[in-house]
Amino acid sequence: MQRTVAAVVAALLAVASPGAQQPEAREVALVITNGTVVTMDDDARVLSPGGIAIDGTDIVGVDTAEAIAKQFRGRETIEAWGSVIMPGLINTHTHAPMVMYRGLADDLALMEWLQKYIFPAEARTVTPEFVRAGTRLAALEMIQSGTTTYADMYYFEEEIARETRTAGLRGVLGQTIIQFPAPDAKTPADGLARAEALIKEFRKDPLITPAVAPHAMYTLDGPTLMASRELAKRHGVPTLIHLAETADEAKTAQERGKTSPVTYLEGLGFFGPGVLAAHGVWVTAPEIATLKAHHVAVSHNPESNMKLASGVAPVPGYLGAGVAVGLGTDGAASNNDLDMFEAMRTASFLHKLQTNDPRAVGARTVLRMATIEGARALGLERRIGSLEPGKLADLIVVAMSSARQTPMYDPMSHLVYTTSGGDVQTTVVNGKVLMRNRRVLTLNENAILREARMLSEKVKLAVRQN
Ligand SMILES: [Zn+2]
Repeated sequence: MQRTVAAVVAALLAVASPGAQQPEAREVALVITNGTVVTMDDDARVLSPGGIAIDGTDIVGVDTAEAIAKQFRGRETIEAWGSVIMPGLINTHTHAPMVMYRGLADDLALMEWLQKYIFPAEARTVTPEFVRAGTRLAALEMIQSGTTTYADMYYFEEEIARETRTAGLRGVLGQTIIQFPAPDAKTPADGLARAEALIKEFRKDPLITPAVAPHAMYTLDGPTLMASRELAKRHGVPTLIHLAETADEAKTAQERGKTSPVTYLEGLGFFGPGVLAAHGVWVTAPEIATLKAHHVAVSHNPESNMKLASGVAPVPGYLGAGVAVGLGTDGAASNNDLDMFEAMRTASFLHKLQTNDPRAVGARTVLRMATIEGARALGLERRIGSLEPGKLADLIVVAMSSARQTPMYDPMSHLVYTTSGGDVQTTVVNGKVLMRNRRVLTLNENAILREARMLSEKVKLAVRQN
């Protein structure tokens, strides 16, 4: 607020003394201004009206609208009246091409759902072409709903990386390693070789962070888990894994002579910085301390956990212990969409109910999980996750003027409790506008939707054969 007053005073002084020397405004590529800027920086600054200046891939100014107008002249300007300007959302766990299986089968027990529908569909339909088409559809949905970075675990991950780069999104993309024959690897060794090729192809890419994704402790033996981890460590890339998602997984750990998935992986020496564990549902308080001690980050996926009745992750416990917790949607087969606004609202409601405390996991906390804490979970907090000069320009403009959002007392409350992905107007990644006023510029929306509908016939057939 003080900054606003100072800027207004400065502007008035400038008008009052026209002879005073004005420093020339710096020309930059893009100015987005006159919106409410929710920075998500350490001071949780909100600037209203505020603006942001972008040059090349970087944010070069975040200030009041007046101060931005004085300092910068955009070759392009986006007016954001009645909107919020905020960091792009970070989805820390998904399987992008699985959008092709959304709504294929719902309301089933996990094993029946997997064995009768998802595994047969994957075995018969997952090809490089299918993965590319699915990724295009997922990228379209993410751009339209304000996700600018996502973490992925799937097959043919190099195809996912290529499509992600074309769409202009940022991705932490992990090649899946799994013990049984997969669509892209007959053996775990093949999977590891694919992961290494992915790392080599994308290690210097400005948008893609390649990663290794050992599927889970219950689908991999100890030596393969450790080979995956060693590969990631050798190349300094993240390790993505499902951890303690279901009670069944806890049972598998017990059968291997250990008490839990966390204890089992710790015993192997698997944990360490750079490991991002998805779900972390069946984790006890002492195990939270173990994860924290090894700098393991967690991706919380409330909608998937609720839909598959997997359980409730101890998120207040993680946050209390200082574990980096990001938010994720999981694949669209178990969500059934990639809308991070919904994930935020669901996360907040779930933990209020679970703890019987409406103060648990409030709007500010989940907003951090979907932005700066998600960035921390991915090891990218110095580059993305908040609007600050020097960071990469990954941001969204969210309309706040519908009946559903009126009146607005607190933008952070509205972003979590009344906003959905469809309210996102403009999406910018790495300084490039991917969507302007709901028009996606990097992808051919109609062609992608047509292709997905055509491919869905193949999926139907694959499941019917069962
Ligand atoms: Zn998953």
